[in-house]
Amino acid sequence: MKIAYIGLGSNMHSPIKQIKSAIKLIEEIASTEITDVSSLYKSKPVGPQDQDDYINAVVKIETELMPYELLECMQEIEKQHGRIRGERWGPRVIDLDILMFGNKIMTDQKLTIPHPEIHNRSFVLVPLAEIDSDCEIPGKGPISDLLATIDKSNVVQLQ
Ligand code: ATP
Ligand code: CA
Ligand code: CA
Ligand code: CA
Repeated sequence: MKIAYIGLGSNMHSPIKQIKSAIKLIEEIASTEITDVSSLYKSKPVGPQDQDDYINAVVKIETELMPYELLECMQEIEKQHGRIRGERWGPRVIDLDILMFGNKIMTDQKLTIPHPEIHNRSFVLVPLAEIDSDCEIPGKGPISDLLATIDKSNVVQLQ
């Protein structure tokens, strides 16, 4: 059994509903349990600015799946939500990134763990720290150190 973290993002077709529905589908994955869910956060888009703000969240899971199996499940849920791949970092109904997978560090064509941008993104670090304020990101360091040097003003916690 491994502990993993999934980052969720949406800025299309009622983003809050998309995030909540994706969390339900993550719950339904076999051999996988959600053990914690962050609040929802609103953030400004990365990349192209001519798109709506994003809603983001992070969920913590316990899973018996292998990393590639988990990635397939994430892509299946994206498909079920009607995600169509457009321009890089363009608007999307749902994005499910594997942020961390146990203490694993790996890079290949399909999968990089931890997620390659995790340490640069306040919309990931802020909800992650809400769940686990003392977590250590493999190869990158304690989340408290990463958060100390990043601009958090573009991430707003929703009620
Ligand atoms: P970013 O990766 O910068 O957040 P993105 O989420 O918009 O951008 P996608 O189009 O969703 O990028 O994914 C592109 C590819 O990234 C996927 O097909 C997948 O194979 C690969 N990928 C590599 N590492 C990961 C990871 N940790 N989690 C999810 N996908 C990953
Ligand atoms: Ca399950
Ligand atoms: Ca992403
Ligand atoms: Ca993605």
